[in-house]
Amino acid sequence: MTRIAIVTGGTRGIGAAICNRLKRQGHTVIANYAGNDDAARAFSEETGIPAYKWDVGDHRACLEGCARVAEEHGPIDIVVNNAGITRDGTLHKMSYEDWDDVMRVNLGGCFNMAKATFPGMRERKWGRIVNIGSINGQAGQYGQVNYAAAKSGIHGFTKALAQEGAKFGVTVNAIAPGYVDTDMVAAVPEPVLEKIVARIPVGRLGQAEEIARGVAFFTSENGAFMTGSTMSINGGQHMY
Ligand code: NDP
Repeated sequence: MTRIAIVTGGTRGIGAAICNRLKRQGHTVIANYAGNDDAARAFSEETGIPAYKWDVGDHRACLEGCARVAEEHGPIDIVVNNAGITRDGTLHKMSYEDWDDVMRVNLGGCFNMAKATFPGMRERKWGRIVNIGSINGQAGQYGQVNYAAAKSGIHGFTKALAQEGAKFGVTVNAIAPGYVDTDMVAAVPEPVLEKIVARIPVGRLGQAEEIARGVAFFTSENGAFMTGSTMSINGGQHMY
């Protein structure tokens, strides 16, 4: 069945792969992004998927953005909270702004998007929310107290909202990717990245499409009996 799906941060990296995968499954897909208009334009031209710009960390912008999407495309059935940023640094060098930006976008974005879409899903008795966490939210990571806290928060948020949605046909799940070959990881210095890859049992970075397949599972009828779960897609890194 065709559903209306929105993917935050859907114009690049993992989000773009998720958009393409959901579109291939026959859904009407809408991407959201923050500010990189060139990337968004190129993505929309290539895929035919419309891109809407707003900051997921802005509560009002999410309410207004989702209302506009629903008006133009129909009620939103599937939300993938994928938008995320890093502002890395050890605690003694991390500013309050670095902390606040990451919490506001990565964790606040999930709350804002859920406030905008969960009530409608609940009323219509069907919905799928997939939140993109991180292995670093499960295990912690040196130099990322902000990111690890936000991603860890996503895993708690997922389990709590899953309990609220269960009897209304709304599933809420998370994916915890390991290191995936995107712009975000390209920002990691080469020597650090070499050490990271050495710790991944399969010996390579993940591909965005490999995360998208997990989203496809959770959002399809195959995933109907899973809620409040976290799927770890990390080449085996969670074992170390
Ligand atoms: P990228 O940096 O490649 O892309 C990020 C996307 O998010 C872009 O489309 C960007 O829009 C959008 N975005 C950023 N901030 C906002 C905002 N405030 N509002 C709306 N959109 C925003 O990221 P990845 O594809 O690497 O990561 C995607 C998700 O996966 C993130 O949540 C990340 O934390 C998580 N993750 C990634 C891993 C990895 O190894 N890459 C590992 C584990 C988790 P714009 O183009 O306009 O900037």
